[in-house]
Amino acid sequence: MIAFQDVHKHYGDYHALRGITATIREGEFFSLLGPSGCGKTTLLRTIAGFEGISSGAVLIDGKDMADVPANVRPTNMVFQSYAIFPHLTVAQNVAFGLRRDPRPAAEKARAVDEALGMVGLSGYGNRAAHALSGGQRQRVALARALILKPKVLLLDEPLSALDRKMREQMQIELIKLQRQVGITFVLVTHDQEEALVMSDRIAVMFDGEIAQLDEPESLYARPVDRRVADFIGVMNFLPADIRSEDAEGVTVRVAGLGEVTLPPSQISRAMPGDSGPSIGFRPETMTLLSDAQDATGKVAPGVIDEVVYYGDMTYFDVRLDGMAAGADPVRISMRNVFGRDVPLVGTRTRLAWSPGGLVLFR
Ligand code: ATP
Repeated sequence: MIAFQDVHKHYGDYHALRGITATIREGEFFSLLGPSGCGKTTLLRTIAGFEGISSGAVLIDGKDMADVPANVRPTNMVFQSYAIFPHLTVAQNVAFGLRRDPRPAAEKARAVDEALGMVGLSGYGNRAAHALSGGQRQRVALARALILKPKVLLLDEPLSALDRKMREQMQIELIKLQRQVGITFVLVTHDQEEALVMSDRIAVMFDGEIAQLDEPESLYARPVDRRVADFIGVMNFLPADIRSEDAEGVTVRVAGLGEVTLPPSQISRAMPGDSGPSIGFRPETMTLLSDAQDATGKVAPGVIDEVVYYGDMTYFDVRLDGMAAGADPVRISMRNVFGRDVPLVGTRTRLAWSPGGLVLFR
Protein backbone atom coordinates (compact mmCIF):
# COMPACT_ATOMS: atom_id res chain seq x y z
CA MET A 1 0.00 0.00 0.00
CA ILE A 2 2.88 2.34 0.84
CA ALA A 3 6.46 2.01 -0.39
CA PHE A 4 9.40 4.14 0.71
CA GLN A 5 12.27 3.95 -1.74
CA ASP A 6 15.55 5.28 -0.36
CA VAL A 7 13.84 8.33 1.13
CA HIS A 8 16.09 11.13 2.36
CA LYS A 9 15.03 14.35 4.02
CA HIS A 10 17.30 17.29 4.83
CA TYR A 11 16.32 20.30 6.92
CA GLY A 12 19.16 22.62 5.97
CA ASP A 13 22.28 20.83 7.25
CA TYR A 14 20.25 18.37 9.30
CA HIS A 15 19.77 14.92 7.77
CA ALA A 16 16.44 13.87 9.32
CA LEU A 17 15.69 10.79 7.12
CA ARG A 18 18.69 8.76 5.96
CA GLY A 19 17.68 6.35 3.25
CA ILE A 20 14.36 4.84 4.34
CA THR A 21 13.38 1.77 2.29
CA ALA A 22 10.33 -0.15 3.50
CA THR A 23 6.85 -1.25 2.51
CA ILE A 24 3.60 -1.09 4.43
CA ARG A 25 1.07 -3.73 3.42
CA GLU A 26 -2.56 -3.13 2.61
CA GLY A 27 -4.82 -3.50 5.65
CA GLU A 28 -2.07 -3.76 8.23
CA PHE A 29 -1.68 -1.88 11.48
CA PHE A 30 1.82 -0.50 11.13
CA SER A 31 3.73 1.52 13.72
CA LEU A 32 6.71 3.84 13.51
CA LEU A 33 8.41 3.60 16.89
CA GLY A 34 11.47 5.38 18.20
CA PRO A 35 12.82 7.95 20.63
CA SER A 36 12.13 11.66 20.31
CA GLY A 37 13.81 13.19 17.27
CA CYS A 38 14.39 9.90 15.36
CA GLY A 39 12.33 11.11 12.38
CA LYS A 40 9.13 9.09 12.78
CA THR A 41 6.81 12.11 12.52
CA THR A 42 8.73 13.40 9.53
CA LEU A 43 8.33 10.01 7.82
CA LEU A 44 4.59 9.94 8.56
CA ARG A 45 4.22 13.43 7.14
CA THR A 46 5.90 12.36 3.89
CA ILE A 47 3.03 9.88 3.40
CA ALA A 48 0.44 12.61 3.94
CA GLY A 49 2.30 15.02 1.69
CA PHE A 50 2.73 17.62 4.45
CA GLU A 51 6.46 17.20 4.06
CA GLY A 52 8.39 17.12 0.79
CA ILE A 53 11.35 14.74 0.48
CA SER A 54 14.88 15.59 -0.59
CA SER A 55 15.43 12.41 -2.64
CA GLY A 56 13.96 8.95 -3.14
CA ALA A 57 10.27 8.17 -3.62
CA VAL A 58 7.08 7.60 -1.65
CA LEU A 59 4.50 5.41 -3.44
CA ILE A 60 0.91 4.88 -2.36
CA ASP A 61 -0.98 2.06 -4.05
CA GLY A 62 1.80 1.84 -6.62
CA LYS A 63 1.64 5.51 -7.57
CA ASP A 64 4.55 7.91 -7.04
CA MET A 65 3.32 10.75 -4.83
CA ALA A 66 6.02 13.24 -5.87
CA ASP A 67 3.61 15.56 -7.66
CA VAL A 68 0.48 14.71 -5.71
CA PRO A 69 -0.55 17.43 -3.22
CA ALA A 70 -1.64 16.49 0.30
CA ASN A 71 -5.33 17.27 -0.21
CA VAL A 72 -5.77 14.78 -3.04
CA ARG A 73 -3.77 11.89 -1.53
CA PRO A 74 -5.86 8.89 -0.37
CA THR A 75 -4.74 9.51 3.21
CA ASN A 76 -6.11 11.20 6.29
CA MET A 77 -4.37 12.13 9.51
CA VAL A 78 -5.45 12.09 13.16
CA PHE A 79 -3.34 14.31 15.36
CA GLN A 80 -2.22 14.19 18.96
CA SER A 81 -4.15 17.37 19.69
CA TYR A 82 -7.61 16.42 18.54
CA ALA A 83 -8.16 19.65 16.61
CA ILE A 84 -11.91 19.48 16.96
CA PHE A 85 -14.06 22.62 17.04
CA PRO A 86 -15.37 23.12 20.59
CA HIS A 87 -18.21 25.45 19.57
CA LEU A 88 -19.69 22.91 17.13
CA THR A 89 -21.70 19.79 17.94
CA VAL A 90 -20.21 16.32 17.62
CA ALA A 91 -22.13 15.74 14.36
CA GLN A 92 -21.01 19.09 12.92
CA ASN A 93 -17.41 18.24 13.75
CA VAL A 94 -17.64 14.91 11.96
CA ALA A 95 -19.51 16.44 9.02
CA PHE A 96 -16.70 18.97 8.64
CA GLY A 97 -14.79 16.25 6.83
CA LEU A 98 -17.53 16.22 4.20
CA ARG A 99 -17.77 19.97 3.63
CA ARG A 100 -16.74 19.64 -0.02
CA ASP A 101 -18.84 16.53 -0.60
CA PRO A 102 -21.66 17.24 -3.09
CA ARG A 103 -24.04 14.58 -1.71
CA PRO A 104 -27.46 15.70 -0.37
CA ALA A 105 -27.65 16.64 3.32
CA ALA A 106 -29.69 13.59 4.32
CA GLU A 107 -27.08 11.27 2.85
CA LYS A 108 -24.28 13.10 4.62
CA ALA A 109 -26.20 12.87 7.89
CA ARG A 110 -26.41 9.11 7.41
CA ALA A 111 -22.66 8.96 6.81
CA VAL A 112 -22.09 10.95 10.01
CA ASP A 113 -24.27 8.54 11.99
CA GLU A 114 -22.41 5.60 10.53
CA ALA A 115 -19.01 7.10 11.42
CA LEU A 116 -20.15 7.88 14.96
CA GLY A 117 -21.37 4.31 15.29
CA MET A 118 -17.94 3.01 14.26
CA VAL A 119 -16.20 4.87 17.07
CA GLY A 120 -18.82 4.03 19.71
CA LEU A 121 -20.48 7.46 19.79
CA SER A 122 -23.95 6.62 18.45
CA GLY A 123 -26.48 9.08 19.87
CA TYR A 124 -23.84 11.72 20.70
CA GLY A 125 -24.37 13.76 17.51
CA ASN A 126 -26.13 16.71 19.15
CA ARG A 127 -23.76 17.03 22.10
CA ALA A 128 -21.54 20.10 22.29
CA ALA A 129 -17.96 19.06 21.49
CA HIS A 130 -16.53 21.10 24.38
CA ALA A 131 -18.50 18.98 26.85
CA LEU A 132 -16.74 15.74 25.86
CA SER A 133 -14.00 13.86 27.71
CA GLY A 134 -10.54 13.49 26.18
CA GLY A 135 -11.29 9.96 25.00
CA GLN A 136 -14.57 11.04 23.42
CA ARG A 137 -12.89 13.95 21.61
CA GLN A 138 -10.33 11.56 20.19
CA ARG A 139 -13.17 9.37 18.92
CA VAL A 140 -14.76 12.40 17.22
CA ALA A 141 -11.43 13.14 15.54
CA LEU A 142 -11.26 9.52 14.38
CA ALA A 143 -14.83 9.60 13.05
CA ARG A 144 -14.06 12.79 11.15
CA ALA A 145 -11.04 11.15 9.53
CA LEU A 146 -12.82 7.87 8.75
CA ILE A 147 -15.88 9.47 7.16
CA LEU A 148 -13.74 10.31 4.13
CA LYS A 149 -12.97 6.62 3.67
CA PRO A 150 -9.22 7.10 3.16
CA LYS A 151 -7.10 4.15 1.99
CA VAL A 152 -4.59 4.98 4.69
CA LEU A 153 -5.24 6.48 8.11
CA LEU A 154 -2.22 8.21 9.64
CA LEU A 155 -2.16 8.54 13.42
CA ASP A 156 0.37 10.89 15.04
CA GLU A 157 0.61 9.93 18.73
CA PRO A 158 -3.21 9.99 18.92
CA LEU A 159 -3.46 8.64 22.46
CA SER A 160 -0.62 10.44 24.21
CA ALA A 161 -2.84 13.10 25.79
CA LEU A 162 -5.07 10.50 27.47
CA ASP A 163 -4.61 9.10 30.96
CA ARG A 164 -3.30 5.56 31.27
CA LYS A 165 -6.60 3.77 31.71
CA MET A 166 -8.31 5.58 28.86
CA ARG A 167 -5.24 5.06 26.67
CA GLU A 168 -5.28 1.31 27.23
CA GLN A 169 -8.99 1.17 26.48
CA MET A 170 -8.57 3.22 23.29
CA GLN A 171 -5.70 0.98 22.17
CA ILE A 172 -8.00 -2.02 22.15
CA GLU A 173 -10.79 -0.03 20.49
CA LEU A 174 -8.45 1.19 17.77
CA ILE A 175 -7.36 -2.39 17.00
CA LYS A 176 -10.99 -3.48 16.73
CA LEU A 177 -11.87 -0.45 14.62
CA GLN A 178 -8.98 -1.11 12.27
CA ARG A 179 -10.07 -4.74 11.79
CA GLN A 180 -13.63 -3.63 11.20
CA VAL A 181 -12.88 -0.97 8.58
CA GLY A 182 -9.93 -2.82 7.03
CA ILE A 183 -8.08 0.42 6.27
CA THR A 184 -4.26 0.53 6.50
CA PHE A 185 -3.34 2.32 9.76
CA VAL A 186 0.08 3.90 10.27
CA LEU A 187 0.74 4.96 13.85
CA VAL A 188 3.57 7.10 15.21
CA THR A 189 4.44 6.42 18.83
CA HIS A 190 7.40 6.65 21.20
CA ASP A 191 5.65 4.20 23.55
CA GLN A 192 7.04 0.72 22.93
CA GLU A 193 4.27 -0.96 24.89
CA GLU A 194 1.63 0.76 22.77
CA ALA A 195 3.40 -0.35 19.59
CA LEU A 196 3.68 -3.96 20.81
CA VAL A 197 0.01 -4.10 21.79
CA MET A 198 -1.43 -2.59 18.63
CA SER A 199 0.74 -3.39 15.64
CA ASP A 200 0.91 -6.12 13.05
CA ARG A 201 4.42 -4.85 12.28
CA ILE A 202 6.67 -2.18 13.74
CA ALA A 203 9.52 -0.15 12.25
CA VAL A 204 11.95 0.83 15.02
CA MET A 205 13.76 4.04 14.10
CA PHE A 206 16.91 5.71 15.39
CA ASP A 207 18.65 8.75 13.94
CA GLY A 208 16.65 8.89 10.71
CA GLU A 209 17.04 5.18 9.90
CA ILE A 210 14.96 2.05 10.38
CA ALA A 211 16.97 -0.24 12.67
CA GLN A 212 14.50 -3.15 12.48
CA LEU A 213 11.16 -3.79 10.80
CA ASP A 214 9.40 -6.81 12.25
CA GLU A 215 6.43 -8.31 13.99
CA PRO A 216 6.16 -7.45 17.71
CA GLU A 217 7.15 -10.97 18.82
CA SER A 218 10.32 -10.95 16.72
CA LEU A 219 11.35 -7.49 17.88
CA TYR A 220 10.97 -8.59 21.46
CA ALA A 221 12.62 -12.00 21.23
CA ARG A 222 15.20 -11.35 18.48
CA PRO A 223 16.25 -7.69 18.43
CA VAL A 224 18.80 -7.12 15.65
CA ASP A 225 21.05 -4.97 17.81
CA ARG A 226 21.57 -3.85 21.36
CA ARG A 227 19.91 -0.48 20.77
CA VAL A 228 16.63 -2.12 19.70
CA ALA A 229 16.90 -4.61 22.59
CA ASP A 230 17.32 -1.78 25.04
CA PHE A 231 14.47 0.30 23.61
CA ILE A 232 11.87 -2.49 23.62
CA GLY A 233 10.86 -3.89 27.00
CA VAL A 234 13.36 -4.61 29.76
CA MET A 235 16.57 -6.45 28.94
CA ASN A 236 19.45 -7.39 31.22
CA PHE A 237 22.95 -7.07 29.81
CA LEU A 238 26.00 -8.88 31.18
CA PRO A 239 29.54 -8.54 29.82
CA ALA A 240 30.51 -11.58 27.72
CA ASP A 241 34.00 -12.90 27.13
CA ILE A 242 34.24 -14.69 23.77
CA ARG A 243 36.18 -17.96 24.15
CA SER A 244 35.76 -19.75 20.84
CA GLU A 245 33.74 -19.73 17.67
CA ASP A 246 32.81 -22.28 15.00
CA ALA A 247 29.95 -23.17 12.65
CA GLU A 248 27.81 -24.30 15.60
CA GLY A 249 27.99 -20.89 17.25
CA VAL A 250 29.95 -18.78 19.67
CA THR A 251 31.06 -19.90 23.14
CA VAL A 252 31.20 -17.16 25.73
CA ARG A 253 32.03 -16.91 29.39
CA VAL A 254 29.70 -14.73 31.44
CA ALA A 255 30.41 -13.81 35.06
CA GLY A 256 27.47 -15.18 37.08
CA LEU A 257 26.31 -17.66 34.43
CA GLY A 258 29.44 -19.51 33.41
CA GLU A 259 30.22 -20.82 29.93
CA VAL A 260 27.54 -21.12 27.27
CA THR A 261 27.42 -21.69 23.48
CA LEU A 262 24.91 -19.75 21.41
CA PRO A 263 23.88 -20.65 17.84
CA PRO A 264 23.97 -18.00 15.06
CA SER A 265 20.20 -17.46 15.41
CA GLN A 266 20.82 -16.00 18.89
CA ILE A 267 23.56 -13.60 17.87
CA SER A 268 22.87 -9.90 17.23
CA ARG A 269 24.95 -6.78 16.76
CA ALA A 270 26.58 -4.73 19.49
CA MET A 271 26.58 -0.95 18.96
CA PRO A 272 29.72 1.13 18.28
CA GLY A 273 29.56 2.73 21.75
CA ASP A 274 29.24 -0.57 23.66
CA SER A 275 32.06 -1.68 25.93
CA GLY A 276 32.54 -5.02 24.16
CA PRO A 277 30.28 -8.05 23.65
CA SER A 278 27.38 -8.67 26.01
CA ILE A 279 24.72 -11.25 26.77
CA GLY A 280 21.12 -10.03 26.99
CA PHE A 281 18.06 -11.70 28.48
CA ARG A 282 14.51 -10.68 29.37
CA PRO A 283 13.39 -10.71 33.03
CA GLU A 284 10.83 -13.49 32.45
CA THR A 285 13.33 -15.92 30.90
CA MET A 286 14.81 -16.83 34.28
CA THR A 287 12.95 -18.28 37.26
CA LEU A 288 13.53 -17.91 40.96
CA LEU A 289 13.70 -21.38 42.49
CA SER A 290 12.29 -22.05 45.94
CA ASP A 291 14.53 -23.91 48.42
CA ALA A 292 12.70 -27.16 47.84
CA GLN A 293 12.68 -26.98 44.02
CA ASP A 294 15.09 -29.12 42.03
CA ALA A 295 16.34 -27.66 38.78
CA THR A 296 16.91 -29.87 35.77
CA GLY A 297 18.67 -27.24 33.64
CA LYS A 298 21.20 -24.57 34.44
CA VAL A 299 21.21 -22.84 37.83
CA ALA A 300 22.83 -19.56 38.88
CA PRO A 301 23.07 -18.84 42.61
CA GLY A 302 22.88 -15.29 43.99
CA VAL A 303 21.44 -12.90 46.57
CA ILE A 304 18.21 -10.91 46.29
CA ASP A 305 19.10 -7.23 46.17
CA GLU A 306 15.68 -5.64 45.72
CA VAL A 307 12.02 -6.71 45.52
CA VAL A 308 9.56 -4.53 43.58
CA TYR A 309 5.89 -5.48 43.86
CA TYR A 310 3.59 -4.71 40.90
CA GLY A 311 0.36 -6.41 41.93
CA ASP A 312 0.15 -9.03 39.20
CA MET A 313 3.91 -9.58 39.21
CA THR A 314 7.04 -8.93 41.21
CA TYR A 315 10.48 -7.85 39.99
CA PHE A 316 13.50 -9.27 41.79
CA ASP A 317 16.92 -7.70 41.39
CA VAL A 318 19.45 -10.47 41.96
CA ARG A 319 23.20 -10.16 42.42
CA LEU A 320 24.64 -13.35 40.93
CA ASP A 321 27.62 -15.03 42.56
CA GLY A 322 30.72 -14.17 40.57
CA MET A 323 29.43 -10.85 39.17
CA ALA A 324 31.85 -7.91 39.27
CA ALA A 325 31.51 -5.86 42.47
CA GLY A 326 30.20 -2.67 40.84
CA ALA A 327 27.93 -4.40 38.29
CA ASP A 328 24.16 -3.85 38.32
CA PRO A 329 22.15 -6.82 39.58
CA VAL A 330 19.99 -8.68 37.05
CA ARG A 331 16.22 -8.17 36.99
CA ILE A 332 13.94 -11.21 37.07
CA SER A 333 10.14 -11.06 36.89
CA MET A 334 7.69 -13.53 38.31
CA ARG A 335 3.94 -13.71 38.10
CA ASN A 336 2.46 -13.50 41.58
CA VAL A 337 0.51 -16.47 42.83
CA PHE A 338 -1.92 -15.79 45.65
CA GLY A 339 -0.71 -17.29 48.91
CA ARG A 340 2.86 -17.93 47.75
CA ASP A 341 5.55 -16.41 49.95
CA VAL A 342 7.72 -13.76 48.32
CA PRO A 343 11.40 -14.11 49.24
CA LEU A 344 12.93 -11.17 51.12
CA VAL A 345 15.75 -8.79 50.28
CA GLY A 346 19.10 -10.22 51.39
CA THR A 347 18.15 -13.90 51.11
CA ARG A 348 20.15 -16.33 49.03
CA THR A 349 18.40 -17.71 45.98
CA ARG A 350 18.94 -19.72 42.79
CA LEU A 351 17.89 -18.78 39.28
CA ALA A 352 16.92 -21.46 36.80
CA TRP A 353 17.77 -20.46 33.23
CA SER A 354 18.33 -21.92 29.80
CA PRO A 355 20.59 -20.82 26.92
CA GLY A 356 17.51 -20.45 24.67
CA GLY A 357 16.57 -17.23 26.50
CA LEU A 358 19.90 -15.51 25.81
CA VAL A 359 21.00 -13.21 22.99
CA LEU A 360 24.67 -12.45 22.32
CA PHE A 361 25.41 -8.89 21.17
CA ARG A 362 28.82 -8.71 19.53
P1 ATP B 1 9.09 13.42 18.43
O1 ATP B 1 8.60 12.15 19.00
O2 ATP B 1 9.81 14.28 19.40
O3 ATP B 1 8.06 14.17 17.62
P2 ATP B 1 10.16 12.40 15.95
O4 ATP B 1 10.86 11.10 15.96
O5 ATP B 1 8.79 12.42 15.47
O6 ATP B 1 10.25 13.02 17.39
P3 ATP B 1 10.66 14.36 13.94
O7 ATP B 1 9.61 15.31 14.38
O8 ATP B 1 10.40 13.55 12.74
O9 ATP B 1 11.07 13.38 15.13
O10 ATP B 1 11.99 15.17 13.75
C1 ATP B 1 13.22 14.55 13.36
C2 ATP B 1 14.34 15.58 13.42
O11 ATP B 1 14.15 16.58 12.43
C3 ATP B 1 14.39 16.31 14.75
O12 ATP B 1 15.74 16.44 15.14
C4 ATP B 1 13.77 17.64 14.47
O13 ATP B 1 14.33 18.64 15.28
C5 ATP B 1 14.10 17.86 13.00
N1 ATP B 1 13.05 18.64 12.35
C6 ATP B 1 11.76 18.30 12.22
N2 ATP B 1 11.05 19.23 11.53
C7 ATP B 1 11.94 20.20 11.21
C8 ATP B 1 11.85 21.45 10.50
N3 ATP B 1 10.70 21.87 9.95
N4 ATP B 1 12.98 22.18 10.38
C9 ATP B 1 14.15 21.74 10.90
N5 ATP B 1 14.31 20.59 11.58
C10 ATP B 1 13.23 19.83 11.73
